[in-house]
Amino acid sequence: MTDIFETLESEVRSYCRTWDTVFDHAEGSLLYGEDGKEYVDFFSGAGALNYGHNNPLLLQPLIEYLQSGAVVHSLDMKTPAKRRFLEAFNEVVLTPRSLDYKVMFPGPTGTNTVESALKLARKVTGRHHILGFTNAFHGMTLGSLSVTGNSMKRRGAGIPLTNTSSIPYDGYLEGSGGDFQWLSRTLEDSGSGVDLPAAVIVETVQGEGGLRAARAAWLRGLAEICSLHGVLLIVDDVQAGCGRTGTFFSFEEAGIVPDIVCLSKSISGFGLPMALTLFKPELDIWKPGEHNGTFRGHNPAFVTGAAALRHFWADSDFQLQIGERSVQLHGGLEEIALRTEGAHVRGRGMIAGIYYPDPETAGKIASESFARGLLVETSGPKGEVLKALPALTIDPDALRRGLAILADAAEAVTG
Ligand code: PMP
Repeated sequence: MTDIFETLESEVRSYCRTWDTVFDHAEGSLLYGEDGKEYVDFFSGAGALNYGHNNPLLLQPLIEYLQSGAVVHSLDMKTPAKRRFLEAFNEVVLTPRSLDYKVMFPGPTGTNTVESALKLARKVTGRHHILGFTNAFHGMTLGSLSVTGNSMKRRGAGIPLTNTSSIPYDGYLEGSGGDFQWLSRTLEDSGSGVDLPAAVIVETVQGEGGLRAARAAWLRGLAEICSLHGVLLIVDDVQAGCGRTGTFFSFEEAGIVPDIVCLSKSISGFGLPMALTLFKPELDIWKPGEHNGTFRGHNPAFVTGAAALRHFWADSDFQLQIGERSVQLHGGLEEIALRTEGAHVRGRGMIAGIYYPDPETAGKIASESFARGLLVETSGPKGEVLKALPALTIDPDALRRGLAILADAAEAVTG
């Protein structure tokens, strides 16, 4: 189909090539093409739609807000919508978890919160080096790319990305209790030549890097060693946060309290651009103007974000529901994985998928799934992991249908 998308949009585009359909409307976990074809959505806007498309619980307050003549764009000024979001975040997220964080709206997207975290860590410690992990993904701007462990993406920068280095992400391995001897020696500088870093940045589940999930003991070990050496711990919860792993923050299971937390994607709940950086109060050292910009908290996103927190996170039923859907998802994926030798299920909660030993298999299954009416992504340095990211609110029937399409597509590809 040669049309304006082909002639005008840059070749850099990727999703519109993978899924060559014009998507017209959507509801819950279903998307519809202009041609009327229905797709079950196991992609969820790359994790920005944890509550599904056009969730009426969020749509209604948004419509009312927009029709009320209230302020839509206000940079970082005070508005009632911002107040209501901050109140909801405090009452529903921070207070019940006894978390003491200051919050900052660093810009509209995930990479903005990561940039702010790296910048703040450097400013606070007066040190420049940051440690990231192999296969990590933190965003596409220069700072976040500099801690991303993917050479292909890093090469896109066109300049050397400096002042960072990456250490092995081995916390998913059986028995990895987190003794971190190597890291410990490096930080003590017994000949490592590595400057004491300002911070370590970590994903608890590597969303883009292959769905490996760090074990709780490993995360605790990492938090301990960081604290021992005065190195700040940044958890990038852009993809794994907002309920994906079963709890609001993905690090809750490990019982750690990072110094800085990065949130975006589903924090607005409705797919509206929004990011949030949380940091311990003693790190609140920037002076006004040291980190500002135009889109630092958008009122429509505050409205849907507050509604999502109040509707879904004010009691524990939603967590139970995520737990039930996760069991269904993992069960379905296990059955599919069993049919291919060497394949296995990875991930945690509703961020899960199947690793295939042949790196081409997952991509082929994803294409076959699309043809059969399911949107599903791949993950991992070679795209070797099939990645399912259904909405946390997906109904059991849509989940069953999506898994059935996936099973048929896998059967068609692997025989
Ligand atoms: N951090 C993580 C863990 C991510 O998964 C992503 C996006 N996939 C980002 C940061 C960057 O977010 P954005 O694409 O909104 O800039």
